[in-house]
Amino acid sequence: MRITILGCSPSFQNAGGHCSGYLVRRGDTSLLVDCGHGSLGSLRSVLDIRQLTAIVLSHMHADHFFDLVPLRYAYRFGGEPESKTPLWLPPGGAAVLDSLTAPLDLDEAFFSGTFCIREYNPARSLTIGGVELRFAHAKHFIPAYAMRLSPVDDPAQALFFSSDTAPTPDVQALAAGASVALVEATQLHEKAGIQPGHLTGDLAGSLASVAKVGRLVLTHYMEDSGDDLLKQAGSAFQGPVELARELETYQV
Ligand SMILES: [Zn+2]
Ligand SMILES: [Zn+2]
Repeated sequence: MRITILGCSPSFQNAGGHCSGYLVRRGDTSLLVDCGHGSLGSLRSVLDIRQLTAIVLSHMHADHFFDLVPLRYAYRFGGEPESKTPLWLPPGGAAVLDSLTAPLDLDEAFFSGTFCIREYNPARSLTIGGVELRFAHAKHFIPAYAMRLSPVDDPAQALFFSSDTAPTPDVQALAAGASVALVEATQLHEKAGIQPGHLTGDLAGSLASVAKVGRLVLTHYMEDSGDDLLKQAGSAFQGPVELARELETYQV
């Protein structure tokens, strides 16, 4: 299984960067995890978008799904796939897309005409092609789900993706023993007076250390904090740790 980073910026793009998007590939299965602003351009540089097996969103914050709009146009005007691309949303996600349809276009089928829209049940696993996904409820400002992705034929291999989250036991447990952990590191310090919803470099490193993951990759970070986040994470996790870089591919 391989993961290619399409966007690793936080809620706004780093200079020349893109927001959350990750392409996970296993054999013929090509899974787009999150589709934040700018990630479509990265995706198109590594994959014919008609080859996408499915899209799965961690949560309905703009930086994780706004490029569904240009992706819809790309399919509509650049060539539709043979069948509608499955779009797996968190519970409640379909209502969010519905609420956007009227302001965006007169076409009530703006999204549903292009994507086969479904909501996953985070309490159950989801198999898409050759990849099985499991979920855990993140601690964030809106409902959000961390994911663990494994090849169906090699469940010992696992990619963990934190989504956006503060520390929480379910997410911590989901990361256990993952070969590669893609963990958000949005801030250098927890913000006083604000309900926790993100990780620092320290907390990302601590999560990786407790979970005993093979490799920690920090994502969802501000470029100018990158070096300090890396130091924080490295002081809490003794294994290999690095900053996600766009268009870099990691073997899981
Ligand atoms: Zn985010
Ligand atoms: Zn978020």
